[in-house]
Amino acid sequence: MWILVIEDEPAMGDILRRGLEEENHTVTLVRDGIEGLRAAETCEIDAIVLDVMLPELSGIELARILRSTGRQMPILMLTARDAAADIVKGLDAGADDYLTKPFAFDVLLARLRALTRRAARPTARVLHASGLVLDPDVRQVRRGDRLLDLTLTEFRLLEFLMRRAGRVCARTAIIDGVWGLEQDVKGNTVDAFIRLLRAKIDEPYGPSAIETVRGFGYILRDEDR
Ligand code: CA
Repeated sequence: MWILVIEDEPAMGDILRRGLEEENHTVTLVRDGIEGLRAAETCEIDAIVLDVMLPELSGIELARILRSTGRQMPILMLTARDAAADIVKGLDAGADDYLTKPFAFDVLLARLRALTRRAARPTARVLHASGLVLDPDVRQVRRGDRLLDLTLTEFRLLEFLMRRAGRVCARTAIIDGVWGLEQDVKGNTVDAFIRLLRAKIDEPYGPSAIETVRGFGYILRDEDR
């Protein structure tokens, strides 16, 4: 893999470079955020090891810029010990994982392996189940060649069920996934939205895609996967 290391402390940068090269990675080492951004934008990088405290542009700002311009490479962030605020900010900015310094080098290698494994197997963007085709990128749902007209909440609910097609989803899990933990949504709201959704995706077409699991939740049938 080609790994971009952005680290301003010379000793740490050298340890990272040497260790990664020993594992047969190609390493580009830069010492500040601006140089790091340039390298990330111009090179075909497989992963970035990104220090948070950097001159010119912090690791957090850099991650935010990369994500806002559509760069998807895995980012492993390095933070000072106990810098909980940095960790939260870094993950929010688009880092995929973090390590606190000091860290064991084999842990860093394992984290990088895990991140790049995940990146190499992107989840299918377009979802198929029960004769339905849902494309999250363009917010469209089709059944056969008919485009279905769903509200935002109906769409999110259907996407939630389709990502778990063939598995039972508890009402509580649906509330957390569709409305979020901070919303005060009750089980009967879920039932009401399921009714709305069924009226659009099922009733005109015959066989029911969504089944009720009495007293628990719902399951979207998984016929065409
Ligand atoms: Ca630093």
